[in-house]
Amino acid sequence: MEVDPTRICELLVGLPDVNVLGVIDESGGVLRVVIEIRGPRPVCAGCGWPAQVKDRPVVELVDLPCFGRSVRLVWRKHRWACVNGSCPVRSWTGVDVRIAVARSAMTDRAGRWVTRQVGEHGRTVNELAGELECAWHTVNDAVRAYGEALVDDDPDRIGEPTALGLDETLFARLGEFGRQHWSTSIVDVRAGVLLDVVPGRSGAEPCRWLATRGDAWLANIAYATLDLSGPYRAVFDTMTPDAIQVADPFHVVKLANQKLDECRRRVQNETCGHRCRKDDPLYRCRRLLTRADERLDEHGRTKLLGLLDAGDPHGEVRTAWHAKEVVRSIYEHHDPELAGEFVDRLGHDLQDPSCPIEVRSLGRTLLRWKDQIAAWHRAHVSNGPTEAAIIRSARRSVVDVVDEAVEAVGERVLWSVSLRSPMWRAA
Ligand SMILES: [Zn+2]
Repeated sequence: MEVDPTRICELLVGLPDVNVLGVIDESGGVLRVVIEIRGPRPVCAGCGWPAQVKDRPVVELVDLPCFGRSVRLVWRKHRWACVNGSCPVRSWTGVDVRIAVARSAMTDRAGRWVTRQVGEHGRTVNELAGELECAWHTVNDAVRAYGEALVDDDPDRIGEPTALGLDETLFARLGEFGRQHWSTSIVDVRAGVLLDVVPGRSGAEPCRWLATRGDAWLANIAYATLDLSGPYRAVFDTMTPDAIQVADPFHVVKLANQKLDECRRRVQNETCGHRCRKDDPLYRCRRLLTRADERLDEHGRTKLLGLLDAGDPHGEVRTAWHAKEVVRSIYEHHDPELAGEFVDRLGHDLQDPSCPIEVRSLGRTLLRWKDQIAAWHRAHVSNGPTEAAIIRSARRSVVDVVDEAVEAVGERVLWSVSLRSPMWRAA
């Protein structure tokens, strides 16, 4: 066991060849450990004369937390000068990359640690900045500096995809007001490989990225998948005009759920005169509404219908709920032609004047993206292969219901499940 106080300090700080000069303890706040480099006086690289101390600049570095507290390493550096008048060397600052690399605001060990947290454990820069009580940029700069060295920038990595997807991702919340910064992921959707991430969610950066790939590469893209975003559509219109555009099923269903939620909140406001409170029937059924129909058991369904009876006097939320379910059923069709007709008919049906305003807006969007939505049935490529697979397999029971309805009505036309069908009204 080590009992020498100086040595104990050095062991706790854990850095080689440093003197621990002291600790600044602001009660409950960040712990500041003041150090300097220990070692013989250096000689001038130009003439070999012994150097003299010119200055002791202090840098403060974010370090790893210790004993549950955030830590800063305060490094009293040595600025050395050559006193040989005939030597061209004037002065230099002592460095030690084992403590920190030049111009880094973080210690070497903290830089490696945050890079591993982000790269291996998928943690966000924001989260780590919170944990270390430092600025977002400090962590981000370190991750970039250490991470870039690890990236194997193999040009063949990108390959020659035949189906390309663009998807927006929230990258970070920055500044005092947590302003959102977005990025665009460029994905080989057949291989399920992330090709690159570019800043923003406009079309400019993806266009620039695609332009650098060359004409032959672009001509190879047969399918282009996207969420229901105008800018991405423009990217593909411009850069890959011959590729078939495919709207991602996940985003189509998500939009139907969003419109349902908007409708629920509006009706809530109109009937109760206030925003959602936890005892309001429409607030209580918000999760049941967006749950897939086949995942509602008898109890859930009874509860939902009871809450709708209590909170939805004109049946608007119910209509939006049915609309969402019919939108999900788009992905039940296997015949691309019929799927296209179904989307077209549904888009018009949902714009019926009897429908709530949110459902009419959904209908307009479906029509605007009709070709891209129906194209999924040709291509079966998607930004979210997993989500699409889940949607497909989970639709089983609804298919059975649809089949029964078709038999009962004696029509084989698929749009008999559309919104005005008595089956949905009766549910
Ligand atoms: Zn010199």
